Amino acid sequence: MRYISTRGDAPVLGFEEAMLTGLARDGGLYVPEDIPQLSEAEIADLAGRSYEEAAFRVMWPFLGGAFGEDQFRELIANAYGGFGHAARAPLVQLGPGHFLLELFHGPTLAFKDFAMQIIGQMFEAALSRSGSRVTIVGATSGDTGSAAIEAFRGLDAVDVFILYPHGRISEVQRRQMTTPSEANVHALAVDGDFDDCQALVKAMFNDFAFRDAVALAGVNSINWGRVLAQVVYYFTAAVSLGAPGRVVDFTVPTGNFGDIFAGYIAKRMGLPVGRLIVATNRNDILHRTLQNGAYVKEGVHPTISPSMDIQVSSNFERALFDAYGRDGRAVAQQMEALVAEGGFEVSQGAIGVLREHYASGRVSEEETSAQIALSLETTGELLCPHSAVGVAVAERYLRREAPMVTLATAHPAKFPDAVEAATGVRPPLPARMADLYEREERVTRVANDLQAVEEIVRDRVGLVA
Ligand SMILES: *Cc1c(COP(=O)(O)O)cnc(C)c1O
Repeated sequence: MRYISTRGDAPVLGFEEAMLTGLARDGGLYVPEDIPQLSEAEIADLAGRSYEEAAFRVMWPFLGGAFGEDQFRELIANAYGGFGHAARAPLVQLGPGHFLLELFHGPTLAFKDFAMQIIGQMFEAALSRSGSRVTIVGATSGDTGSAAIEAFRGLDAVDVFILYPHGRISEVQRRQMTTPSEANVHALAVDGDFDDCQALVKAMFNDFAFRDAVALAGVNSINWGRVLAQVVYYFTAAVSLGAPGRVVDFTVPTGNFGDIFAGYIAKRMGLPVGRLIVATNRNDILHRTLQNGAYVKEGVHPTISPSMDIQVSSNFERALFDAYGRDGRAVAQQMEALVAEGGFEVSQGAIGVLREHYASGRVSEEETSAQIALSLETTGELLCPHSAVGVAVAERYLRREAPMVTLATAHPAKFPDAVEAATGVRPPLPARMADLYEREERVTRVANDLQAVEEIVRDRVGLVA
């Protein structure tokens, strides 16, 4: 199994290297050279199996022998054992032909746990084999950082530093990052906004002396291992609803396009996925692109679904690569135009290919709140604002020929203020983390300054500056 860059000019890597590297050296994203296929019989045979068994069968062909079979099963068991629901990703019916895939039963109550938990296990296994250590740094507006800290806490081969904007994330998100007590996890509260945090992380990766000294690694949403882990629940959901004998549509609340791209990979593997519907909030670059064929940056608007507040959508490059017939030069040119001119026109041919797979819809803040209230009233389901964006768009695309699955990406208790404002109901935390507000917090406040942050990292990983 070989992995190639979407810009066509980086070394070809195996699974393990592609996962540990993250971004390719030519600035591109790694994708598998060929997409493994599951036959109809193999897909049908997933019915009634555990989530863990499905995860093994779906992911295994992509690994190219990076791990042994028994070892990989054990990593999967470790990854999902801490979830609060035996089904891991249970499906709930909302109405005729419309189903909600609950992806929020992991330890940090958002779908990012599905990918981050197994990534943590695979990093640890790969690194302990080679006897090396890495330092993971990441910036977060909330969900990614908490999922990363939860996944890497207590592992031997990894230190993890998460930068978040001081005073600008929800209390639940902050406490999920500041209350783990393991010595290898470090929450850094930066005096700045999310963009400042991202800029600091980028600057650390561009400081090659520092990068090499601490063996920097990243686990942001472009990491191929994360995309792969998310392919699994498309299979389990579709098979529950009658695949391979039945086509199933999916609506996905989308920011960086990682989650919905996993649905496209499932389709390419042979799962009968009908439409993949991109649901966006006001930050609608993906919706505009699919409508007008022009991928053009705008400023970021803060919304009540903050995990989808993005200016550009990093994983969209993977979709473009396929839409351009896997022409890395064409993708590289478009990405240069994005940097230089703030946008580009997608070619007629490529936009046609994208529209064969993806449809889209945008939801305003008022519509999001109204959907949270309506869903509670008509189904008893309390949706988080991201999931409500998904449900609202899905309602526009329901059809008799195929059931619709909307991905519920976070638990409502992770965004209690928006949910309470919409419904008057304050969603309680699940019992297993009800003491989150009592646990002791541990956090380092740091100036928005590269040197200051690098000094803390060096110091904590035991290097003298
Ligand atoms: C990260 C996130 C999203 C967006 O996922 P992408 O893979 O970036 O499209 C949606 N909802 C929630 C709750 C998230 O944390």
